[in-house]
Amino acid sequence: MIWYPYEQLKTMKDPYKVVDAKGVYLYTEDNKMIDSVSSWWSNIYGYKNERLNESIINQVNKFSHVMLGGITHEPVETLSNKLKEFLPGDLDYPFFSDSGSVAVEVALKMALQFYMNKGEEDRTMILALNHAYHGDTFKTMEVGDDEDYHFVLKAYGKSKYVVHIPTEIDALEDAFDKYGDKLNSFIVEPLLQGAGGMRMYDISFLERARELCDEYNVLLIFDEVATGFGRTGNRFVADLVLPDIICLGKALTGGYIGHAATVANKKVFDAFYDDDPTHALMHGPTFMANPLACSVAISGIEIFEEENFMEKIKRIEEIQREEMAGFTHPKIEEVRVMGGCVCIEVKDEKDIRGFQEFAYKRGVFARPFIKYIYSMVPYVISEDELRKVMRTMKEWFER
Ligand SMILES: *Cc1c(COP(=O)(O)O)cnc(C)c1O
Repeated sequence: MIWYPYEQLKTMKDPYKVVDAKGVYLYTEDNKMIDSVSSWWSNIYGYKNERLNESIINQVNKFSHVMLGGITHEPVETLSNKLKEFLPGDLDYPFFSDSGSVAVEVALKMALQFYMNKGEEDRTMILALNHAYHGDTFKTMEVGDDEDYHFVLKAYGKSKYVVHIPTEIDALEDAFDKYGDKLNSFIVEPLLQGAGGMRMYDISFLERARELCDEYNVLLIFDEVATGFGRTGNRFVADLVLPDIICLGKALTGGYIGHAATVANKKVFDAFYDDDPTHALMHGPTFMANPLACSVAISGIEIFEEENFMEKIKRIEEIQREEMAGFTHPKIEEVRVMGGCVCIEVKDEKDIRGFQEFAYKRGVFARPFIKYIYSMVPYVISEDELRKVMRTMKEWFER
């Protein structure tokens, strides 16, 4: 028996069995559905994308994988150069890994060792946000604050190394005042907190965070695993406020293969780059910089730029805002729209029950959770398809 994610296997309903996929569509034996979740927010270029298929097939015909220890290859070199141009500021030093969770682990390790290398061994604390989600590995669960993951708290109690605050400037200032000289980093999902409930907040909070991080000499980490590649309506939130470390995942490889990157700026990199072997970053996932993943990521960035995906995302946001304008219902707490994300938060958890089947019957794949019905569509979606997704969400309340 297979372990399915986040499920009580004994009572879960049968998963939909996908047999084919193309563009925004997933095909089962007897249905065709728009993937309104983009395979957990990663498939932004559509399924069976010709260019991505071609790049991966070309690479398979050369070699699928070689280790990065003592070896390098063209796909990783090209991707590294591409990211250097694509990312803002001096975020020029990528460390590759196989998943978003690991990218965050690496960022947290970098931030801690950044100070260890400088002899500041007291900076062991991390500031994080309420409702944060940064992955499912142990340290990412500690900096996370999702109700679903509280079993860590049950087992260990609250970590004394992590402080959580709301996205309010007062709380931010208080936290720096209190812990500023003990913190190595402040980690956030910038502007849009995904798995914690599609919560959206204002850029002014991040601008103030940048100032305080500079003032107190704390590293600012943006976990853009979900927000990167246009999801908030910005290419990266890092285009607006520049972090010291950015984590990329999900859409980095267009939903084709799991891969991620932790990209540091020069200041961070320089604390590791010297003659002392103990200052090296001791991390090395077996499949880091997998050539197939790098090839797909390179083609993905090319598509994103050449086919002007930011324009597509702007159009998607406009249609979503138009569809959701004034939409309300007694069962609804709030409707939120940002970039390529729409969230309907209901007042009572049981008011999302049955939505997945309801959507399936209308040809839309959705995965509501806790109190949230949401969409994060592939950017290649047509206007009609997008309106269909929006209407399916609205019709659920108008039954
Ligand atoms: C999905 C996600 C992760 C974890 O990525 P995985 O590839 O699932 O390990 C980390 N941070 C954020 C913000 C995410 O949305």
